[in-house]
Amino acid sequence: SVRLRFAPSNTGFLHMGNARTALFNYLYTRHHKGTFILRIEDTDLERSKPEYTDAILEAMDWMGMEADEGPFFQTKRTDIYKEKVEELLASGNAYKCFATKEELEERRQKAMESGGDLSAASRIWRDRDDHPEGQPFVVRFKSPLEGDLTIDDMVQGEVTVSATELDDFIILRSDGTPTYNFTVVVDDILMEVTHIVRGDDHLNNAFRQLPVYLALGAKPPRFGHVALVAGLSKRKGSTSVPEYRALGYLREAVNNYLARLGWSHGDQEIFSMEELIEYFDFDHVGKSASQFDIKKFQWVNAEWMKRLEPAVLAERWLPFLAEAGLPAPSVDSPEFARLTEIAEALSGRAKTLVEMTEKGAFFFTDSVEYDEKAASKWLVQKYADAFDELHTRLSALEDWTTENIEAIYRDLVEKYELGLKHFAQPTRVCLTGSTSSPGVFETVALCGRERVLERLAAGVE
Ligand code: GLU
Repeated sequence: SVRLRFAPSNTGFLHMGNARTALFNYLYTRHHKGTFILRIEDTDLERSKPEYTDAILEAMDWMGMEADEGPFFQTKRTDIYKEKVEELLASGNAYKCFATKEELEERRQKAMESGGDLSAASRIWRDRDDHPEGQPFVVRFKSPLEGDLTIDDMVQGEVTVSATELDDFIILRSDGTPTYNFTVVVDDILMEVTHIVRGDDHLNNAFRQLPVYLALGAKPPRFGHVALVAGLSKRKGSTSVPEYRALGYLREAVNNYLARLGWSHGDQEIFSMEELIEYFDFDHVGKSASQFDIKKFQWVNAEWMKRLEPAVLAERWLPFLAEAGLPAPSVDSPEFARLTEIAEALSGRAKTLVEMTEKGAFFFTDSVEYDEKAASKWLVQKYADAFDELHTRLSALEDWTTENIEAIYRDLVEKYELGLKHFAQPTRVCLTGSTSSPGVFETVALCGRERVLERLAAGVE
């Protein structure tokens, strides 16, 4: 059975591109009923931060990507890596290198000038055993000198690199810490990872890692190097999962949109997590970079806002209402039923939960601010008698339902021989401050009698 891992470095919040890598790993694993492993690569002592670890775990949890094993932390596995370095030294697959920085630089310089083999500059100590006593050293891996290395990549297809392009890279630094290209292989072997799915910025590394598997007596896993996502930059906007969460994107939409970035299934655009798991495969992951498109992402989010059960949408809305200083009734309170109805009425009219809060605030506030244009168009030309009667009849209405409210409006439309919009638009401006709202009868019903009577009186005075 398959075993896949997501191995983020805890040097920042979960980037959308990385989240997509996690998702591809997760979907493939679940599709094949395998094991999903989470490993935090926290060996960058300067940039790694525990608060980033927490944020990454929270974002994964929010997206619904539960790990079956882990999280593992590389900083807790130092002894394992050291043991493996010893193993490679003993088997002759690695060696101590005592060259100084200056010496290495000089070699590289010379190679460059003479158009010679750059990677050879790293191999000064490859075949020497006149080791100096008490000198600092690094441990280098003995990369193959000749032949070709081929990877049959699940995304990139067959990729071949000549061994002459490989240097003897460092696996243990002079301060005794192991390097990424080594720890990643040790971990993937010990965690019995069968498929490595990651960004194609690691494709070059895969060729360095391949011989390490063989040297450690392990069979290399299958690789899938996914092209990066273009168009995500801090300069252009938000880049991380928690940012989009705070902007009011739903987890369903994040998963849906990210999965479709680079993968397709016919011309279907909207997928539930269950469908993604059912349909996902690497045959339909494209080789080229995909473009992050905020408009499309918003469209997917708006679709999911319409598709969620209204009570679920209302529950997701609560933190945004609270954040805006509006009442956020708990799920088991009597007021939650009204909130659910309001959420349902607004769901087709907002692209994010933040926009829904802006568009729906009038349902909860004590007063509204008039949009000047709307007010001057619809409030000054009101029909005093008609609105007096509307006010009287609404205040006398026994059963405050959308149907009964509509009946009153229809009655008055007939009686005063005015088009419905002459009632509807001033009502909207009074209640919301503008002319945009859900259906007018529904809006009146959901605003509640007290608020409606007060605002009508204030608006058409
Ligand atoms: N920590 C690496 C990264 O975040 C993981 C690379 C890999 O998956 O091997 O880029």
